[in-house]
Amino acid sequence: MRVGIVGGGLAGLAAGHALSQAGVNVELFERSRLLGGRATSFEIDGVEVDNGQHVFLGCCTAFQAFVDDIGFGDSLYVQERFDALVVERGGIASRLRAAPLPAPWHLIASFLRFRLLSLRSKIDVARALAAASGATAERDESFAGWLARHRQGAEAVRVFWTPFFVPALNLPLERMDAREALFTLRTAFLGDAAAARFGFSTVPLAHIAQAAAERIGRVHHSSSVASLELDEDARRVRALVTTKGERVAFDAFVLALTPPQLLALLGDTAPYGLPSLDAFTPAPIVDVHLRYNGAPASFDFAALVGSPVQWVFRKAPGYLVCSMSAADAYLRRTTDELVALAWEEVRASLGLDAALLERGAVTRSPEATFSAPPGMAHPGPATGIENVALAGSWTGTGWPDTMESAVRSGLAAARRIISS
Ligand SMILES: Cc1cc2nc3c(=O)[nH]c(=O)nc-3n(C[C@H](O)[C@H](O)[C@H](O)COP(=O)(O)OP(=O)(O)OC[C@H]3O[C@@H](n4cnc5c(N)ncnc54)[C@H](O)[C@@H]3O)c2cc1C
Repeated sequence: MRVGIVGGGLAGLAAGHALSQAGVNVELFERSRLLGGRATSFEIDGVEVDNGQHVFLGCCTAFQAFVDDIGFGDSLYVQERFDALVVERGGIASRLRAAPLPAPWHLIASFLRFRLLSLRSKIDVARALAAASGATAERDESFAGWLARHRQGAEAVRVFWTPFFVPALNLPLERMDAREALFTLRTAFLGDAAAARFGFSTVPLAHIAQAAAERIGRVHHSSSVASLELDEDARRVRALVTTKGERVAFDAFVLALTPPQLLALLGDTAPYGLPSLDAFTPAPIVDVHLRYNGAPASFDFAALVGSPVQWVFRKAPGYLVCSMSAADAYLRRTTDELVALAWEEVRASLGLDAALLERGAVTRSPEATFSAPPGMAHPGPATGIENVALAGSWTGTGWPDTMESAVRSGLAAARRIISS
């Protein structure tokens, strides 16, 4: 069997790897010269940087197993226990740190000592956490609506729910599907004590993508697929046609694209039985890179409360990356404005008053993640065309648009192809 995969992000690579392992002859087409899609890296001034800071949690088991399988497991750092520094403007800091106890007791002692929430807000949050373990959300409820229904005050929302959930789902609470937020809450915090541990790659992300590609039969870089050729009764796809006019026939296909890219490729989605792809809207992430002269930051990463910069990561001594999720309001600001804003936020919170900013840079990802309106169903790997499977982090894996979801979707598409 020969399978053509369109898209060389994590979803396409995971599908390609799984199919190759099953003995299938795979060819992958990626329009960019780089592999990894939204999880890639490139050189700026001779230094390889990721297109955006990526983190994962201990519960992201498919992503970790995939990276392990392709021989890069050692390049993933994962905390031994969940440990997050949370900082208020003005420098008041407190840690949330797991104790060696089963969930949810592992976080309770640290939560009780957490300085940035009043006793009243802690009771509010504890009540919501207890409700979340069993509660369901209304079908089209936003997480903001769910939090209001569970009487979360302004302080609990600002200090607890926003710093952890806005970056996790890359949406403002008002646009966040309550069911996805509750899934994240249960999976990361309420299930298993190891699930909430933070992790990140210690090598540039494109190296992981490259290693995955080396395990796939043939990878065509800089090769954009322009269209698919259906047979006469529109039941099977026969071939793909690249923008260079090459026609390549396969027995089956995996389409591992974002919703707009998929729409551009298919044009008419009716034969594929897909829901309206326009309903999946992008959300941006902006990363501000700050190089400064001064004492190195004393943390690996920290959450900033009440700031447009939700998380700050120490990449190297004198080098911080500030991550701004759900950054619609900041996407179009100039680099100088964003660097000044992030530097001001960092200095005000992290005690870098004596430090001098040397230079700053900005990476903007207008389409960092995709989400559907609360309540809308996401398509699975099966399509209306029997030899075409769908993959992509936005598809119905049960996970929000993340690297974990991308890998899971790729594996599901590979299973679909093999079983059909
Ligand atoms: C700045 C930023 C920060 C993020 N932070 C995190 C994080 O901390 N944790 C996390 O888990 N996730 C994070 N994400 C999301 C994560 O990167 C994505 O969920 C995941 O990488 C998506 O993988 P994918 O394969 O589904 O899609 P993509 O990576 O978008 O892959 C689609 C691929 O298809 C290619 N393509 C498009 N059209 C064609 C065509 N016609 N022919 C051939 N190829 C085509 C594209 O070039 C691309 O390579 C972040 C994303 C960004 C941008």
